[in-house]
Amino acid sequence: MKERCFYFISFFILISFLLITTSYAQTTCEAKDCKITITIKIAFAGATDAQMNDWKQDIEDVWNGDGPTTGDCDCPVTFKVETTKITDPAKINCRPPPAGYHCIMVTPFATNPPKDTRGNTYVGYMYPPGISRHGQSLCGWWSDIMNRPAPAGGIYHDAAHEAGHMMGLDDKEGDGLMTHTSGDKAKPTQENIDAVVKNICGANACPDRCCCGNGVIDAAQGETCDPMALPSGCSQNEACCPICCNCFQPNCNPENGAYATQLECESACSGFSSGCYYNYKTGCWDCVKLKIAEHKPVYNESRIKHCNHPGESIYALLQRLIGYDFSGIPFVCPEFGSEWINLYITDSGEFSIITLDCIVLEVNESLIEPPDFPTMNAFTDKETVKAIANEEISINQALDEGRIIFEKLSEEL
Ligand SMILES: [Zn+2]
Repeated sequence: MKERCFYFISFFILISFLLITTSYAQTTCEAKDCKITITIKIAFAGATDAQMNDWKQDIEDVWNGDGPTTGDCDCPVTFKVETTKITDPAKINCRPPPAGYHCIMVTPFATNPPKDTRGNTYVGYMYPPGISRHGQSLCGWWSDIMNRPAPAGGIYHDAAHEAGHMMGLDDKEGDGLMTHTSGDKAKPTQENIDAVVKNICGANACPDRCCCGNGVIDAAQGETCDPMALPSGCSQNEACCPICCNCFQPNCNPENGAYATQLECESACSGFSSGCYYNYKTGCWDCVKLKIAEHKPVYNESRIKHCNHPGESIYALLQRLIGYDFSGIPFVCPEFGSEWINLYITDSGEFSIITLDCIVLEVNESLIEPPDFPTMNAFTDKETVKAIANEEISINQALDEGRIIFEKLSEEL
């Protein structure tokens, strides 16, 4: 009995620890529809609004400068900075730093320059460890001459350089921003961008499927065509599936307003505000009336042929939940507030969802398995997930109707 108790307590501590480390990520990654967004959250103590704004601008301008991309499929990467101001005089030295933020103390260089324990002074620096791993918290001490004018013109991009450390880069990493803070070279190298994405988002943030639709036929990624390439790579009576980038034979039924060629469509499609549009999903030319175009997508998913990618759409729908804040929903919030949920969807596979304080932190395409433990199992079906994602029914309603069934595992603790 004693051992059992010890085991459960250890398990609880482990879970608490994992939840805390996840919630304390100060640099975060969102990879959605093959677009990657890195968000750096910084709290400033002692900075003016103008300084906070200038530094945010510097980080975003320098890092987004050349329209960065990563991976073989060139997934676009966007860098965002969110700032907050510490006004509590008791916390002015970033002790303790606010949860979910890197924390920077700011002082005037002339009277109180940033210095280390040996008395060396700096324009600004990050306290040890100095380099964030997987987005973990860093604290630092910056002065008011960060981003001062550079002698050869322009400014020193100190804030953007320090942001490199917050994203896991070391000094002198490549012949760019981590080595030069002013001049033409003061911008991230491709290697810097790739290393940041790998550090914050993990190894597969830009998977092979992201190549589909980039205008290039990437044979190495299993593509036989690309709908945006000219020519697409398919023979004349075939179309290129925009999801799997393989050729298929379109099945166009004029009775449904779908035509095999543009010419056929245009001769049949008349009337006020109607027009012919190529439908990449079905490979047909659709005669679209204004009324339809206003309200719903022009394609009908059931008409897609030879395009076999089960589960993908459900995972994409689930991923829309990341960041979803359900703290305002009574019952659902306390019940699913901070959980490690294994989600079983009939005919669509197994997923997991991690929530903290009624916010969805993570959606994964696999179950939570030992050494981690789920705190809850949930069971539902594809139609319910779609209905919720399309806001046809609420989560509450789905629970009421028994379309989502769950069992709590943590109550046994
Ligand atoms: Zn540095």
